[in-house]
Amino acid sequence: MERSLMLLKPDCVQRRLVGRVLARFEDKGLNLIAMKLMRVTPELARRHYAEHVQKGWYPSLEAFITGGPLVAAIVEGPEAVRVVRDMVGSTNGLDAAPGTIRGDFSTSQQMNLVHASDGPESAAREIEIFFDASEIHAYAPTIRPWLSAPDDD
Ligand code: ADP
Ligand code: MG
Repeated sequence: MERSLMLLKPDCVQRRLVGRVLARFEDKGLNLIAMKLMRVTPELARRHYAEHVQKGWYPSLEAFITGGPLVAAIVEGPEAVRVVRDMVGSTNGLDAAPGTIRGDFSTSQQMNLVHASDGPESAAREIEIFFDASEIHAYAPTIRPWLSAPDDD
């Protein structure tokens, strides 16, 4: 089992796509174990996007990500980090494959609707930035026996 941090970015909230985007992850069988609507501060943005802070386009990214409320969530499932990244699609909505969230809903490099952790280490780091342990509610879904076979591995 893996956990991945997901941000439904301010463009996703403004465009009323939160329900449709979340539904894709629910439909896939991932377990939603934490979720909140929040406003990201510049300080939080710099922590989350630490690897990009030095880039020329970072100020524009910070203005975007702090420019309205977003939905932060954690999903859990087998190989969740890779599975969620694949469902989100490549960074630029113009390049992202049809069938992915960015490929279906975005035509922008920046306004690409969803953030998803890019590896298990970044997932652990990002989850700690956005959530207290008391806000995470793991549970065994009753449909688990119908989501994968015991010998799937
Ligand atoms: P990803 O979200 O696919 O992991 P990156 O880590 O490369 O993409 O970039 C983080 C976020 O910064 C992107 O999701 C996007 O919103 C924004 N971004 C990426 N490249 C640019 C750019 N050249 N100009 C403005 N914003 C960008
Ligand atoms: Mg990235």
